[in-house]
Amino acid sequence: MSAAETIHVDGVWRTAASGAQREILDPADAKTFAVVAEGGKEDTDAAVAAARRAFDEGPWPRRPVAERAALLRRVADLLQRDREAIALTESRDTGKTLEEGRIDVDDVTNAFRYFADLAVNESGGRVVDAGTDDVHSVVVYEPVGVCALITPWNYPLLQASWKIAPALVAGNTFVIKPSEITPLSTVHLMRLLAEAGLPAGAGNVVTGPGDPVGARLAEHPEVDLVSFTGGLASGTKVMAAAAPTVKKVALELGGKNPNVVFADACATEEGFETAVDQALNAAFIHSGQVCSAGSRLIIEESVRDRFVAELARRAALIRLGRGTEGGVECGPLVSAQQLAKTEAYVADAIAEGATLRAGGCRPEPSSTRPATGYFYLPTVLDHCHGDMRVVREETFGPILTVETFRTEEDAVALANDTEYGLAGAVWTADAGRARRVAKRMRHGTVWINDYHPYLPQAEWGGFGKSGIGRELGPSGLDEYREAKHVYQNLAPQPVRWFKG
Ligand code: NAD
Repeated sequence: MSAAETIHVDGVWRTAASGAQREILDPADAKTFAVVAEGGKEDTDAAVAAARRAFDEGPWPRRPVAERAALLRRVADLLQRDREAIALTESRDTGKTLEEGRIDVDDVTNAFRYFADLAVNESGGRVVDAGTDDVHSVVVYEPVGVCALITPWNYPLLQASWKIAPALVAGNTFVIKPSEITPLSTVHLMRLLAEAGLPAGAGNVVTGPGDPVGARLAEHPEVDLVSFTGGLASGTKVMAAAAPTVKKVALELGGKNPNVVFADACATEEGFETAVDQALNAAFIHSGQVCSAGSRLIIEESVRDRFVAELARRAALIRLGRGTEGGVECGPLVSAQQLAKTEAYVADAIAEGATLRAGGCRPEPSSTRPATGYFYLPTVLDHCHGDMRVVREETFGPILTVETFRTEEDAVALANDTEYGLAGAVWTADAGRARRVAKRMRHGTVWINDYHPYLPQAEWGGFGKSGIGRELGPSGLDEYREAKHVYQNLAPQPVRWFKG
């Protein structure tokens, strides 16, 4: 495969029909480190046609589920074989640390294995009691058809795998469009799928921009389902574009996630240290470019001063640098655009009355932080409130805002005061309060005395404007299946409704 042959259609790697290419930048120094094909409408249509043929006529949807699951397990093994290479690609492409890249590879390996097992266990259908022995009634699950999968730049391998694994094991074919700025791990994954024996046309990749590639996939009449992970603005466009053809639509969008800390969680030194440490991790891992980032600290007023002082002290110690270098804890932002957005949010917040407690600017360049890289210091903003743009909107940068409460009621109200509803956490030593608050939080994932873990067996997705549908867990497989009720009358008789 030459450098710009990153479009995969019907089992063949090719360049864009137009010949256009895109340079992929390393965000740590803004230098080009790869070149990919810049696909367009023609490439997208060719990929959809290949996926359509592979679904309507090809072997993949007709293979026994055990064989499809076996392919997923082979992919899991190949991911582990290529673990270091993929982690390095992901680190250079997104800026995340090498260690985070390795964790991503391990997580998606588990997801491939999980969906392989789940599909085999759930393949039997469900016999329904029709109330008479003369009827055999069964609900069976069938693939939806051609799936368009559109993914963002922050967890490229992870988001691709959460869609590809269930789509394939359910018997669908797909066209995936990775983010135009971080497409490389998806290209690598497609090579592994082909190596594992996926038939030509069952999996296709078009590298290229949101418009026209993603937009064309969303509107395409031959696509049956579009599963999109990305921002709210693009997600609403995808939903509108899919409407005229009444495709199934799954959306995994952004979040503005509350991390609620009660004073009783900080009553012991150990509890205090844990809550601070996890608040830091919640907000600043991957420089805050995480859909579930705990970007809103909502803390009981009595412990605020001590907590924020310690947070600010530790935020200033975070080792920022090129993700591939040893000892680095946080990489750069992914792009110049993301850096500019972060700077604007911080400037606005300060103008609106927030107090800067840490960060608030770019760091001094160093041997691990080239001046051309998109680095920004982890930033803590105190005295924030719900009218501020930085509190309402997803910044997707290393910005932690602090709000305070006095009562449990206030804490819940603040946690739910967002148009999003992806994830959030509550920290308390009171088990009853933990359950009460968790129950009332309108978010798709709620952590109690923890932040960030997720499990392939447990659904992931959002309330409100965080999206529609779920990934992972049994619902993550159901997204890619149609339920069909087959009702067999074993003793047919005339109905005699019409008497004539
Ligand atoms: P984005 O919306 O800009 O882009 C996402 C994808 O959509 C990209 O591949 C892009 O090319 C494509 N796209 C853009 N315009 C399109 C259009 N009109 N039609 C079809 N496709 C289009 O998002 P991003 O900046 O790449 O990613 C960050 C966003 O993703 C954040 O909002 C984050 O919260 C969200 N995200 C959500 C989850 C989740 O699980 N809910 C996970 C990761 C990221």
